Amino acid sequence: MAMKTGICKLCLQEKQLLNKSHIIPDFMYRDGKIYHDDHTVHKIDFGKSLKGKVARRGRQNSGEYEGGILCKECDGGIIKNYEDYTKLFLYGKQLSNQLMYQFSPGQVTVQNVDYAKIKLFFLSILWRASVSSRPFFKEIKIDENVREELREMILNGNPKGNEDFTMLFMLDAGDNPNLKQYIGQPVGSDNGRSFLFTYPGLIVYYVFDIDIVPKQILNFRIYDTGEIRLMKLSGRQIWDLFKYLFG
Ligand SMILES: [Zn+2]
Repeated sequence: MAMKTGICKLCLQEKQLLNKSHIIPDFMYRDGKIYHDDHTVHKIDFGKSLKGKVARRGRQNSGEYEGGILCKECDGGIIKNYEDYTKLFLYGKQLSNQLMYQFSPGQVTVQNVDYAKIKLFFLSILWRASVSSRPFFKEIKIDENVREELREMILNGNPKGNEDFTMLFMLDAGDNPNLKQYIGQPVGSDNGRSFLFTYPGLIVYYVFDIDIVPKQILNFRIYDTGEIRLMKLSGRQIWDLFKYLFG
């Protein structure tokens, strides 16, 4: 199928646009062991569950992707650069000489991480979800000015400071392996000021206004000193936190 020409949503140039750009990159499914043998993916709708409705357990094919939004240079260059590093950070062994891990009850701290790449990687997922028309991302609605600020940050490799576009990281340390098989439908809350993305074994909570976050969990984020603190939660604690944040 021939590529269409159009305006790339990241660089805003008129280019040939890719027929298929992942919103959530493949490796978040694949390396997260979320693929079933038949290459379909389980999904669970946390938003509906939390709003008192029954969780819908549907199946989707090979993650979520969309055509006609990004050019080859943006998808395969700028965004791939963030993805390659984060993939190694999350699943690879190649960075292990460089990274310093500290394990203590309820948390994992990692030092010497690339603040810009990890932060811009996760912001690029949020941004891609916000420009996507896929129903899976329907709750990811971001104010146009904020979306433009994110676009420039991703395009120019500028992660800004610790207090800008804060993200909290939680590791699912529950012992039920089945629960780790799910990617949750992203949830938006607080009138577009917070968003929750659930991956196999990892939860990322974006907060545009840190005053809405309980102080005791605000430490679990990434710092421009190259430190990332991840909160370790049991399955039960995760559920309680969801109810607290979105109930
Ligand atoms: Zn582009």
